[in-house]
Amino acid sequence: MNNEHVQARKTGKCRFCGQPLRFTFVDLGMSPLCESFLSLEQLNQMEVFYPLHVFVCENCFLVQLEEFVNPEKIFTEYAYFSSYADTWLKHAQNYTHFVTERFDLSKESFVVEVASNDGYLLQYFVQKNIPVLGIEPAKNVAKVAIEKGVPTLTEFFGEKLAIQLLEQGKQADLIVGNNVLAQVPDINDFVRGMKTLLKPGGIVTVEFPHLLRLMEENQFDTIYHEHFSYFSFIAAEKIFSAHGLILFDVEELPTHGGSLRIYGRHADNGTLPITDGALELHEREVNAGFKKIEYYSEFGEQVKETKRKLLSFLVEAKRQGKSIAGYGAPGKGNTLLNYCGIRTDFLDYTVDRNPYKHGKFLPGTHIPIYPPDKILETKPDYVFILPWNFKEEIMIQMAGIREWGGQFVVPIPEVKVYK
Ligand SMILES: [Zn+2]
Repeated sequence: MNNEHVQARKTGKCRFCGQPLRFTFVDLGMSPLCESFLSLEQLNQMEVFYPLHVFVCENCFLVQLEEFVNPEKIFTEYAYFSSYADTWLKHAQNYTHFVTERFDLSKESFVVEVASNDGYLLQYFVQKNIPVLGIEPAKNVAKVAIEKGVPTLTEFFGEKLAIQLLEQGKQADLIVGNNVLAQVPDINDFVRGMKTLLKPGGIVTVEFPHLLRLMEENQFDTIYHEHFSYFSFIAAEKIFSAHGLILFDVEELPTHGGSLRIYGRHADNGTLPITDGALELHEREVNAGFKKIEYYSEFGEQVKETKRKLLSFLVEAKRQGKSIAGYGAPGKGNTLLNYCGIRTDFLDYTVDRNPYKHGKFLPGTHIPIYPPDKILETKPDYVFILPWNFKEEIMIQMAGIREWGGQFVVPIPEVKVYK
């Protein structure tokens, strides 16, 4: 019934294979863009909401959102600075050591990172005297990287830019793309660009949240308008291989609630055989049901139940007269709060370490954002952790709340209190 309704709306086409999208993965209702924080003056103005309705392609099984907003609008003043999360910096540093060793990178090599943000990763290659180039469309973020000594082009990456670099004699031994693939509207152009920019013996590593983990752990709040696609390993293999890149290895990482790091190379580079790990994950996804359309349709009900449990907890806490403050103002928090209808009726305020967000308000829910010290001043009964992927780090940073009997609440995979 639901799918007939969707069909009647004549929705879009799969951004990889062009098949019309008919099957719903999950429908999270209407939400504002998750990074569009509001100033005090903007609270009285109209706010734009777009559907957060996710589809799955019945042909290639790419899970995807329709594109509502021009990426230029989203990314040219992007507020996310990677360097504000300590564990993410540590992750970047470990990766640099590991990949330099495994693929013998040296001062003769050339490393390109697509969506290089504020230079959080490339700075560690610079420390090793390995030549780098960052590509980052958000001007304010790229500026920070350049000030750190990381050469950065303020551009969108795709085949056109790859050809320009190639014509300047630039080809990469390593191309890195962390948490960018989901945000690319024209995925075919992007992967073709990687193919073009890669030296014959070079490798590509790409990290993205793993759809398997998103589904297993109810991470529906990682769905937002800025993330157009949600990948299984199988879907990624299909997309890269369509452009002459073979995924020869894969690692499962704990970052962002469970990510994959895929390793790609040119299809004709036989020196890097496909590993057992890659074969095993492919098999595991097939066995889980990732090649059957029915498997995807169960997710929506699971999400509704997660919402009901979270709201039950919050209603009960407020009836008991408890005060609740948020911690963090990440994109995922905005999806969760808007979908569940959680506003200042439940959360008095939230805090964030990023000074860019202080004095602003969360989009849609209008919850105010303060510096973290606000929690120490107001001593709430519960601290509701929105970036649950950093929960261990946050519980250590904010351990002081236990002095007044404060407790942490984590909403995902389902609501849980940590004493
Ligand atoms: Zn498709």
